[in-house]
Amino acid sequence: MTTLITNIKELLQIRNSDITKVSGTEMAILPTIKNAYLVIHNDLISDFGSMENLPNLKADTTIDACGKIILPSWCDSHTHIVYAGNREQEFVDRINGLTYEEIANRGGGILNSAQKLNETSEEELYRQSEERLKEVIQLGTGAVEIKSGYGLTVEGELKMLRVIKKLTNNYPIAIKATFLGAHAFPSQFKDNKKAYIDLIINEMLPKIANENLADFIDVFCENGYFTVAQTELIIAAGIRYGLQPKIHVNQFNSIGGIQVGVQNKALSVDHLEVMTPEDIEELKGTSTMPVALPSCSYFLSIPYTPAREMIKAGLPLALATDFNPGSTPSGNMNFVVATACIKMKMTPEEAINAATINGAYAMGISSTHGSITIGKKANLIITKPIPSYYQIPYAFGSNLIESIILDGKLYQ
Ligand SMILES: [Zn+2]
Repeated sequence: MTTLITNIKELLQIRNSDITKVSGTEMAILPTIKNAYLVIHNDLISDFGSMENLPNLKADTTIDACGKIILPSWCDSHTHIVYAGNREQEFVDRINGLTYEEIANRGGGILNSAQKLNETSEEELYRQSEERLKEVIQLGTGAVEIKSGYGLTVEGELKMLRVIKKLTNNYPIAIKATFLGAHAFPSQFKDNKKAYIDLIINEMLPKIANENLADFIDVFCENGYFTVAQTELIIAAGIRYGLQPKIHVNQFNSIGGIQVGVQNKALSVDHLEVMTPEDIEELKGTSTMPVALPSCSYFLSIPYTPAREMIKAGLPLALATDFNPGSTPSGNMNFVVATACIKMKMTPEEAINAATINGAYAMGISSTHGSITIGKKANLIITKPIPSYYQIPYAFGSNLIESIILDGKLYQ
């Protein structure tokens, strides 16, 4: 099966296969071809170039992309898409003046989601999560990481991870699963935190590894959640089961989470709303991808990740949604890219790099996703006719996507 796309106004994010991420000043460069063609063979990109050099080939399907821009699908490396119900009441409570921490202290927050999840069957949880996955696919996401962390019981965590596995099997989108048993302490362990950590390490992890349900291990390292020492203990246990760390750090406070992530070769450290000069220094020259979640900053009215300082220091940066019921009930990567430009002063080129190739890196899939490269997955966004790719962040409330290609096929 061969698909030929012709007359592409501009084909974005052309990379050689040896580029797995871009950092610092390289982030301002977005390699493109104007007036381009692209060839897809089965599920892979097999050729592309300028229309002047269009080869004479027999395609099964030809798509005329006149006036339209094509880019690799968004790579959303941080989500909590699998959850039950919603937390719209807390949203209204916050409008009325309560803080995120006050709501959490009243039994709201993550524990509220955990209660709902444990009362919901696996079938119903799958049904609700599937709707969200379909929505983010239509919004241009072609690879997504999904975390557990609303079970906080052995059965609840396994239920979430089984739902993620079922989504992976049933949808043509790349999915990576992360075990986040250390998302919050359940209230029955409030006075015996060691016992919950023992449960994570000695009961949850062996079962998860046995069923091969997770790729990564995550911990919410923050005051009131997991300390640096607890984080280190849990990620070390995950590493023993072959799960690379991807951790929540520096959302509200800088307490040493980045340091423990870097020391344990975390694939990514995520949130980073609060960054000290030492935190930025620590990340230099490492294999750990910093990940910013601007929709979360927007929704909670908390600081944005200091992208300019980090890029100036030579760091790479990835962008993700953090789609979750409490702090970011949105999986829209187009909004993330726009918000990164508007609020974090990233250029459109930097934001698109952060949401494609660097997002793929933060999921460990940049050899197969995140750029227009021969041999990579044909997961593409075809825009409506637009004047230039600046429209993607500029027209921040508009849906500019005309069609989606996943695994080489038009997704409908
Ligand atoms: Zn998160």
